[in-house]
Amino acid sequence: MLSVEEAQRRVLTKIAVLGSEIVPLPAALGRVLAEPLTAGRDLPPWDNSSMDGYALRAEDTSAATDVRPARLRILGEIPAGAVAARPVAPGEAYRILTGAPMPVGADAVVPQEDVRGEGGSLIVSRPVPRGDFVRARGEDIRTGDRVLAAGVVLRPASLGVLAALGRATVRVHQRPRVAVLSTGDELVDLDGSLGPGQIPNSNTYTLGALVRAAGAVPVDLGIARDRPEELEERFRWGLHADVLVSSAGVSVGDRDFVRDVMQRLGAELDFWKVSMRPGKPVTFGWIGPRPFFGLPGNPVSCMVTFELFVRPTLRRMGGYTDLFRPRVQARAAAPLDNPGPRRGYLRVGLEGPRDRLEARPTGGQGSAILKSMLLADGLAVVPPDTRVETGQLVEVILLHTDSELTLDGS
Ligand code: AMP
Ligand code: MG
Repeated sequence: MLSVEEAQRRVLTKIAVLGSEIVPLPAALGRVLAEPLTAGRDLPPWDNSSMDGYALRAEDTSAATDVRPARLRILGEIPAGAVAARPVAPGEAYRILTGAPMPVGADAVVPQEDVRGEGGSLIVSRPVPRGDFVRARGEDIRTGDRVLAAGVVLRPASLGVLAALGRATVRVHQRPRVAVLSTGDELVDLDGSLGPGQIPNSNTYTLGALVRAAGAVPVDLGIARDRPEELEERFRWGLHADVLVSSAGVSVGDRDFVRDVMQRLGAELDFWKVSMRPGKPVTFGWIGPRPFFGLPGNPVSCMVTFELFVRPTLRRMGGYTDLFRPRVQARAAAPLDNPGPRRGYLRVGLEGPRDRLEARPTGGQGSAILKSMLLADGLAVVPPDTRVETGQLVEVILLHTDSELTLDGS
């Protein structure tokens, strides 16, 4: 049976990055920049004061002392947003406020608390070093500087820089649109009440959320009953999306029609079993240019297979360069048992400082135990037929590393 790595490789080799689009700056948070950003202006755009005080010529104060202070004529005031009426000549100064541009001729600012005023004159009783409290033009960013590389994820600070450089819009990678279909006769959606034999549809909502958290856009195809015609119809609705994801109906039961229907739609199936627990019957193929994932129905299997196969796909398509979650080493706080020939992905909570993390199973590891995912910080990767004893090291895939940044706003 296919290993997880081999399956991931088979999926990712053919996945291409989507094109780009232009979005308004506020909507660019969490998006991937599709072009390098070069500064078209200096920041700050001109020399300006970093203090409330007086702009003067340092030279005029070079011999100033308590007993022989420099006496400068105050020409007026420059508040932020204004410019000086005229240059500063020897023996002159301007009152200046934080952020206001330095007047021509002045080369230093003395803070207001360091000086005295006397009948329209400024009394300075020490030398003011040249450049003091002046923020030089371009000291932050210079015209022509390469500020952001293509491929970076835009963060709040990036948006600030883009705004400072005058960019009202920005070119980012498109977000993949992901059609999400739940399948099963037993499923009841949020607008229905549970009858005998029925269970609530949760996969639509976990998958939709996982899609969003991966930086993509879910398109809800609802619930298809276990009838080939209905599955086919709903899958067809999804053909306008970039990716198709379904849950359930991929095992070998009499009512598991997903693979058949996909083939009927002309899909090319690549694999339908991966050596992992939970999640063995995960199906992957192509329907035209669209990747198709038939995930298992059990809620935990569904989420774990999404993590391992769908999420990296969506990241790649969306232009992200980090496709995979970070992994950490942790010590088992209780035994992590994975009997059987498939690799285990056990749900664990993590506690303790980063360099001494402890991984504790989050209770029952059955693939239908939703709560075990609810409490999980990560998936402990346990080799086949292995029991990790308390105190032994285990590798853990961190979940929840998507930032809130990838969520909407556009
Ligand atoms: P199946 O692969 O169709 O045999 O489904 C496996 C298990 O997952 C069954 O117990 C289903 O009831 C359950 N299941 C399937 N789809 C969903 C869903 N959308 N939400 C919650 N549980 C589901
Ligand atoms: Mg079913």
